[in-house]
Amino acid sequence: MNVSLLMLGTGTSQGVPAIGCDCETCRSTDPRDRRLRPSALFTVGGRTLLVDTSSDFRWQMLRHGIRRIDAVLYTHHHFDHIGGFDDLRQFNYLQSATMPLYGQSETLDEIRVTFRYAFGEARQEGGGIPSARMQTIVGGDPFDIGGATVMPVSVKHGILPVLGYRIGDVAYITDTNFIPETSFALLDGLDVLVLDALRHHAHPTHFSLEQSIETARRIGARRTYFTHIAHNIRHERDGALLPENMEFSYDGLLIKSQREAYD
Ligand SMILES: [Zn+2]
Ligand SMILES: [Zn+2]
Ligand SMILES: [Zn+2]
Repeated sequence: MNVSLLMLGTGTSQGVPAIGCDCETCRSTDPRDRRLRPSALFTVGGRTLLVDTSSDFRWQMLRHGIRRIDAVLYTHHHFDHIGGFDDLRQFNYLQSATMPLYGQSETLDEIRVTFRYAFGEARQEGGGIPSARMQTIVGGDPFDIGGATVMPVSVKHGILPVLGYRIGDVAYITDTNFIPETSFALLDGLDVLVLDALRHHAHPTHFSLEQSIETARRIGARRTYFTHIAHNIRHERDGALLPENMEFSYDGLLIKSQREAYD
């Protein structure tokens, strides 16, 4: 089973350009400096597994002509990662089916509160609200979606627990500044690693670029791509300084695993 990962959004929570900002990156005409809110789409064995419904979800689906999503894998409940939830309605309609949502219990609880209208008891039938079925998962406990094994990987984002996801030899880990030892063990032998690298200087809940490079070196994937990138990083200027086998991802980048995924 081949695994690919389409980077739908590689920006930080406010996106790049930021509203009202005149910095070099926000004024850049390089399309790789224009970053929607964070999300990515795994394709494995003909299934499409979406990581997070970002605040830019609708535009990401339109931009790439995506017409089918088999499941949503949530990393955590921060709004940049869940804001597009309501637009899952269109996929309920296109697929005539309820959307399965996977996440840890804290994440799913917060989604139920934030989008209370979709989970009430006396829910209105019809097209007005998304139809979703929640499945609680736990870091380190793999599960199966249509024959593909998905490994959730626990990391920390400040004090908040977040899940990264590994499918075959591709892993996507956003919104983190700490990876526990037990999770490093789940990241052995990767072909592709996508990792949070917010900005040059330190941040209380995200890896800085320097910390992310150090972590990527330890994980030792054949190729590493950084994501959740703020506006003080310019793709071309700063990308030229990265170590070999590491680069900034950008919106629309399609990453394909070189190896066969295991089932
Ligand atoms: Zn985020
Ligand atoms: Zn800016
Ligand atoms: Zn976050």
